[in-house]
Amino acid sequence: MTEILFDNTYARLPGTMHVGVAPTAVRAPRLIKVNGPLALELGIDPAGLTAEMAVGNALPAGATPIAQAYAGHQFGNFVPQLGDGRAILLGEVVDRTGKRRDIQLKGAGPTPFSRRGDGRAALGPVLREYLVSEAMQALGIPTTRALMAATTGERVYREEVLPGAVLTRVAASHIRVGTFQFFAVRKDHASLQALIGHVIARHYPELATSENKELALLDAVMEAQAALVARWVQVGFIHGVMNTDNSSISGETIDYGPCAFMEAYDPGTVFSSIDTHGRYAYANQAPIAQWNLARLAETLLPFLDENREDAIRIATERIEGFPAIYTRYWLKGFRAKIGLVSEEEGDLDLIQALLDAMQMARADFTLTFRALSTGGNPEALAEWLPAWRDRLARDPQRAEERQALMRAVNPAYIPRNHLVEEMIQAAVERGDYGPFEEMLRVLMTPYEEQAGAERYAEAAAEGQGVYRTYCGT
Ligand code: AMP
Ligand code: MG
Repeated sequence: MTEILFDNTYARLPGTMHVGVAPTAVRAPRLIKVNGPLALELGIDPAGLTAEMAVGNALPAGATPIAQAYAGHQFGNFVPQLGDGRAILLGEVVDRTGKRRDIQLKGAGPTPFSRRGDGRAALGPVLREYLVSEAMQALGIPTTRALMAATTGERVYREEVLPGAVLTRVAASHIRVGTFQFFAVRKDHASLQALIGHVIARHYPELATSENKELALLDAVMEAQAALVARWVQVGFIHGVMNTDNSSISGETIDYGPCAFMEAYDPGTVFSSIDTHGRYAYANQAPIAQWNLARLAETLLPFLDENREDAIRIATERIEGFPAIYTRYWLKGFRAKIGLVSEEEGDLDLIQALLDAMQMARADFTLTFRALSTGGNPEALAEWLPAWRDRLARDPQRAEERQALMRAVNPAYIPRNHLVEEMIQAAVERGDYGPFEEMLRVLMTPYEEQAGAERYAEAAAEGQGVYRTYCGT
C-alpha cells in the first residue's frame, strides 16, 4: 500500500464539527480509474493506489476518517442538519505546490448523517462526476477533482437496481456555506470561531491580520464565488443544485449531481428534473450565488459589529455589492471570448446583443464562440457581425493573435450531455469503459482541435437535445 502523508487539521477541530466513522467494507472492489497526474501532484505514487483503498476496504496509515457536519438551504428551505451522509473524509495532504487538499471517499457507506440514505453511490453518477470535474479542471475552472473511481461489486437501489461505486474526491476543502450555517443556527459561537480561524488559515491566510477578519472573509468568498460563477456561464455550465450546502467556501465547483452543459443558448435553461421553478437556471446562477452569500453573511453577523443593527447594515452593503463584482468578472471573460483586449463602455451591450442573437437563433453556445475564434461567420449572427468588426477595428491586436487568444478561452469540446449519457450506458449496461476513457482523453485538451474527435464537438441531433438530469445520485 502506497504511503500518503496525511496531516488532518479538520479532524483536530472541536468534536462538534465532525464525527469519526469508518467506511463500510464492500464485497468485490474493482478499480475503474486512477488519476495518475493528480496522485503525483498530491505526492502519492499512483502505482500503489488499489481497489481496496478506492472503496475504503483498506485505510491508508494516517487516515482519520470523519463525516463533516453541515446544514443548508435546499431550494430555499433551511435544513438545520445535513452533513456527510455518504462521504467520508480520510484526511488532508499538502500537495507539491504547498496547497492543503482533502481526500474524501464518496459512496463509502452510511454515517451518522445518512438519515434514510444508504450511504452509497451508483456507478453512473460516479463516472459522471469523474469526467465532468476533470473536464472542468481542463477548462481552467476551479473544481473538486477525481483521484479514483471503483466499483463495489454490490448493488444500490434507486428507481432501479444499479451497480455501486465509490469516487475518491479531492478538494481544497469540503467546507461549505452550510458548514457555517450549522453552527450559526445552534448559536455555537465557539465552533463557528474555530471554523472561521481554520478557513482563514487554510484558504485566505492573507486575511489573518485584517482589522475585521470576518468581514474580510465575506469579501474574499464573494470574490471567489463571483469569479467562479462567471467562469461557469462562460462555458455554458449549469450546476443544477446550488444549495448553500453545495456552495464551497474556497470557490471551487462542488457536487456534480444534476449538472449539465447548455447547448442551444437560452438563459432560462434548466436540466434538473426537480428544479421545477427554474431556481437554478443558467442565468439565475449569479443571483443565487448572491443569495447564498447573504446566508453566509448572516452567520457572520455576531462578528461584524457588537451592535446587531450595525452588523446587518454592514453585511447588507457588502452583499448589495455582489452584482458589480460579478459583472466585472463577466465582462472580463466575455470580452476575451469575443477577442477584445481593450475596454470600451459599449462592450457589455455588444456582448448582450450577441447573446440575444444566439438566443433568437437557438445557436449552440460552444460552437458559436468556437466559430468566431476560427474566422467563421455564423449565419445566425449576420446582423451582429458588422458591429463586432467595427469594434475589433478599435482593438490593438492582429487577427492571428486575436484568434489564438479566443481559441484559448472558447473550447471546442465540452462534456456534451448525450455523450455523457452514452458513456454511462456503455459502462453500466455492458461494463465497457472504452467510451469513458476516450471521452476523458478528448476533454483533457478542450481548447485544441483533435483529429478524429469530431463527434465530441458536435451538438446533439434534433430530439436528443431535450435533456433531463436527476438528483437521485
Ligand atoms: P446532495 O444532494 O448530494 O448535495 O446531498 C444532500 C444531502 O443528502 C447530503 O447531506 C448528503 O450527504 C445526503 N445524501 C445524498 N445521497 C445520500 C445517500 N445515498 N445516502 C446518505 N446520504 C445521502
Ligand atoms: Mg451536496
